[in-house]
Amino acid sequence: MKALQITGWKQAPELREVAEPEPGPGQVVVRIGGAGACHSDLHLLHDFDEGMMPFPLPFTLGHENAGWVHAVGAGVGGLEVGTPVAVYGAWGCGMCRRCRAGMENYCENAASLGAMGGGLGTNGGMAEYLLVPSPRLLVPLDGLTPVEAAPLTDAGLTPYHAIARSRHLLVPGSTAVVIGAGGGLGHLAVQILAATTAAQVLAVDTSHDGLALAGRVGASHGVISGPDAAAEVSEFTGGRGAEVVLDFVGVDATLALAAASAQTLGHVTLVGIGGGSHNFNFFSQAYEVSFATTYWGSITELMEVLALARDGHIGAEVQQVALDDAADAYERLAAGQIHGRAVMVP
Ligand code: NAD
Ligand code: ZN
Ligand code: ZN
Repeated sequence: MKALQITGWKQAPELREVAEPEPGPGQVVVRIGGAGACHSDLHLLHDFDEGMMPFPLPFTLGHENAGWVHAVGAGVGGLEVGTPVAVYGAWGCGMCRRCRAGMENYCENAASLGAMGGGLGTNGGMAEYLLVPSPRLLVPLDGLTPVEAAPLTDAGLTPYHAIARSRHLLVPGSTAVVIGAGGGLGHLAVQILAATTAAQVLAVDTSHDGLALAGRVGASHGVISGPDAAAEVSEFTGGRGAEVVLDFVGVDATLALAAASAQTLGHVTLVGIGGGSHNFNFFSQAYEVSFATTYWGSITELMEVLALARDGHIGAEVQQVALDDAADAYERLAAGQIHGRAVMVP
């Protein structure tokens, strides 16, 4: 089968012919129906020199996957071939306390596993088939299509978790600022805020088209990212600032905006892996603002995200691409030309 692989650090990915996976005992092979192209794949391809990441190369990209059960290994019961499934992407040890609670994204044994998930250290879904180590990582789609579900496994799940941890602040009359609101994660964050909280949503992006998308999916106002953005957030919040700021970019400028936009007792959650930093001191933000990073979400949160989509509350704006064009889709993503999510359909 064909697969889009990372074959060298700081190199373009390559479409290569590889062997079709066969399920070993306890494993499942999923026929891919959709694989989302996440900006994290660009960080993986571009940001690391040889030796910085513990992943052996090559491996197939793609950590936002959904499709149909294709083959099951010995000992796997209760899964019928042909069942549509989403693949939970953070593959933990399955045995520690956090994994047992569904939080494989925060597996206690992550450092010893050698890979973070399919497409993140071991073969992912930018191919025709994906080997999944255990059926515990599959969630039935129950009516959604794989193309709809694939981006929800990360671009939906990650903002869902980031919002969930601050939902108690997002009371009626509150404000949430979404930085990078026109992107894959950002445009779903806007929808999840609209569907699960009463907050007004201020969308921030460098792209006018990105802000237009954020407006179509539920943002009350669009703010162009730049030197005037903090003043605009202040104006839209009556001078108080926002209860919650979600930064889906994570460069110096957006972290500075996030810190300046959060009100006293507010939360800033950094999701973007742009490599920026914020100079934290007593006066660098309002009183009692807390900062956190988040990484992905839990399996039960993925079930909740899929339920939101099934009930029509959220849906990714998808641009479908063929496997032959997946490398080109990553180039367009790097150039800021994809609003919403590019999803590879083999
Ligand atoms: P994307 O490229 O689809 O979207 C990024 C958006 O940010 C675009 O709309 C772009 O126009 C906008 N943007 C770029 N620079 C900006 C700036 N200075 N100010 C405001 N907006 C700006 O990316 P994505 O796939 O949505 O991923 C977003 C980030 O989240 C990436 O860094 C990615 O690696 C990271 N990520 C983190 C996790 C996690 O678990 N923490 C999970 C998935 C992705
Ligand atoms: Zn991702
Ligand atoms: Zn674990």
